[in-house]
Amino acid sequence: MNRAVFLDRDGILNVDRGYTFQIADLVVPEGVPQALGRLKSKGFKLVVITNQSGIARGKFSMAEVEAFHSALQKEIQRLGGPVLDLFKTCPHHPEGHVAPYNVDCACRKPAIGLISDACSALDIDSKRSFMIGDKWTDILCGHRAGARPMLVQNVQSLSYDLPDDVRLSKAKSQRGRDITVATSLETGDIAVYSSLSDAVSVVLESSD
Ligand SMILES: [Mg+2]
Ligand SMILES: [Zn+2]
Repeated sequence: MNRAVFLDRDGILNVDRGYTFQIADLVVPEGVPQALGRLKSKGFKLVVITNQSGIARGKFSMAEVEAFHSALQKEIQRLGGPVLDLFKTCPHHPEGHVAPYNVDCACRKPAIGLISDACSALDIDSKRSFMIGDKWTDILCGHRAGARPMLVQNVQSLSYDLPDDVRLSKAKSQRGRDITVATSLETGDIAVYSSLSDAVSVVLESSD
């Protein structure tokens, strides 16, 4: 079976501008294509797992999201990065007004529907895989799917508020580095990284 790194999109692969869908707004942060290349060359499947409730809310269409994904893939390759294996999108939100997307679904993170589908499609063992995201819902999704979740946020100014039941603390990593840890009852300790590259280095260290 394959191993994968499940990747949140906005805030991880491209700069999050809030309901990002216009190709003119597409910015891939420095280091992202190279980090993805390192994973790919170690044999990890690269799977994008993204909530796009803007579809249910009528802000943009599935076709526009797909065009954005093509542009994202092209930009990653233009910058020296690899081909991503799969994009999985949840278009739903129960408070949206665009049918048939305005429903409570089994795929909006933190639900695990997208990861489960990807595992079937690409013969992935989620228990030997990772989920990298910048919101706590990404962490819950990865955890619930049996993958190892990794939170990427700017530790100085957390880009997203964490839920009240998540506590941040300083700790030492197994390799003696100073790290920040986010802890909740459900997930236990989750390491916080300041960039995708940092998280990827740890994925590669722990999978030698
Ligand atoms: Mg995000
Ligand atoms: Zn969904």
